[in-house]
Formats: sequence, C-alpha cells, structure tokens
Amino acid sequence: MKMVIKFAGALLEDLGAVKSLAGQVAWLAKQGHEILVVHGGGRVFTATLKRLGIESKFVAGLRVTDRQTRDVAVMVFAGLLNKRLAAAITAAGQPAVGISAADAACFHAEPLVRGDVQGSLGYVGYLTGANREVLASFWREGLLPVAPCLGLGPDGELYNINADHMAAAAAEYLEADQLIYLTDVEGVLRDGKTLSCISCEEVGRLVESGVVAGGMVLKLEAAKRALGGGVNGVHIVGGTVPDGLLAAAGAAGSNRSAGPTAPGTRVLREMTSVGIPAACSAA
Ligand code: ADP
Ligand code: MG
Repeated sequence: MKMVIKFAGALLEDLGAVKSLAGQVAWLAKQGHEILVVHGGGRVFTATLKRLGIESKFVAGLRVTDRQTRDVAVMVFAGLLNKRLAAAITAAGQPAVGISAADAACFHAEPLVRGDVQGSLGYVGYLTGANREVLASFWREGLLPVAPCLGLGPDGELYNINADHMAAAAAEYLEADQLIYLTDVEGVLRDGKTLSCISCEEVGRLVESGVVAGGMVLKLEAAKRALGGGVNGVHIVGGTVPDGLLAAAGAAGSNRSAGPTAPGTRVLREMTSVGIPAACSAA
C-alpha cells in the first residue's frame, strides 16, 4: 500500500513518542508499504520566532509570513525537526531521507490567496503538485522520504503550507491508499469520547455545532479533500496511543497490533447502512 503519514508538530517535541512512532513507521515500511511522512512543527516554530525576537502579524488567524519569518520556518521545519524525525526512523532500522520542497523540486506550491484577507499573506502557500518520480525513486531504493510542510513556489521561493492540507494533497497527488494523521488527541472527540467513525457529511454538523473546533476543523477539511481526491482510508489517531499507528494502518491481526478495534477516528466518504465497519458500531 501507498501511505501518507502526517506527524503533528507536538509529537516531535516528545522524544518518547518520536521513538515509538519511528519504530512503527519502520515496521510498516519493512512490510513493503510505500510511505511518505509529512510533518508540521508549529509550536517549535512559534517558540523559535519568540527566541529570535521576531514578532508576527496575524490576519484572520493566519500568520503573515514575511521573508525573515519564512527563513525561520525553513530552519525549524526543514532543519531541526525534519532531521530529528529522519534520524529516528533511520535508527529504528528503516533508512529515511529528509527532503524539503527545494530538493529536486519535490513539492510545488502556489501562494495562498484568501478572499477574507486583504493583501498578501507573504510566504504562505498551498500544495499544487508532488514530484512522483523523485518519491518513487526513493521507494525503489528502499528509502523512506520525510517531508516538512513546505512547497516550492513558481518564483523559486519556499512557502509554508498547513501540514494537514499538505498531507491530504500529497496523498491525492501520489494516489495513496491511506492517509493517517498522528495527532496530540486520541481522535475526534465528542463529550470526551473518541468517535470511531465519522462521515464527510457529519463533519459540517460537528463544526457547526461547535463540537469540533480549532486545528481539528482544518484536519477534517483536509481529510474530506483527500477522500474526495480518491484516497480510500483516512484515519486520525493519537500519536501516543501504544501501537496506534500500526492499528490505524490495518496491521490488526499482526503480532504487533494493539487489538481488534482500531483506536482513533476513521473518516468515511459516506456512512452507509450496509458495510459499516465493525469498529463504527461502538461509536
Ligand atoms: P495537529 O498538530 O495534529 O494538527 P492541532 O492542534 O492542529 O493538531 O489539532 C488538534 C487539536 O484540535 C486538538 O489538540 C484539540 O485541541 C482541538 N480540537 C478541537 N475540537 C476537537 C474535537 N472535537 N476533537 C479533538 N480535538 C479537537
Ligand atoms: Mg494542525
């Protein structure tokens, strides 16, 4: 299977989680899956800007990313965090290569333009393409690519991309079978309980009713996009759940599975009365 696995930035700050997840990614790669890891790192980025005394302007909740701010994004995402993750996966036995959009132009971006925002957001973009040949060449050689949330613009500049949207768009462009979001909560929660399945149709209701807010809204929008773009399975799972990634990837039944019921939340194209997966009935 071809899989895109997105690591939340918060998980990269937890070295125990990095080690455990790197082991699971390495194990999946050894089963023959073609894996692209995409990661964010918003909190480390914000902390680094603060440390450097660089102040950010926000418009409609979005950071205006000037050149200086963008350079810090490249340092943090394509530097520190990307290398930390590639090193951990490699140490777990699966040689991994940290690549940013600049390397062999592997991820393309266009500047993000928002109707509700006057003027430019600077170096903030959205993914418009992925270099499938370059990525396939890594997989052929038994290497696992790890990419930060950056894209190369038509002007040759790097643009910061929302990592959830980048993962969804990359999954679509690579025709991935599965997209797995590893996050800092156990899944999509309602009244403190994890919803084991939700349909695209339900996403709107959960947002309107305020059950889902903040970063989870973006994640579910991205999940919908991926499903609409032909990705068959989208799963949101806690990165610190023991063997959660393996279970989400459908490794259940293997001797490394956490149990018969996958943890986290599956996002489904539609909820049909026929063929509802067993896991859904527990919701
Ligand atoms: P990530 O780094 O994985 O993208 P985000 O912080 O962007 O994480 O999004 C996940 C966050 O969304 C959670 O930590 C939580 O604070 C928030 N959130 C809001 N509503 C929900 C919900 N119903 N279920 C789970 N998380 C939610
Ligand atoms: Mg997020």
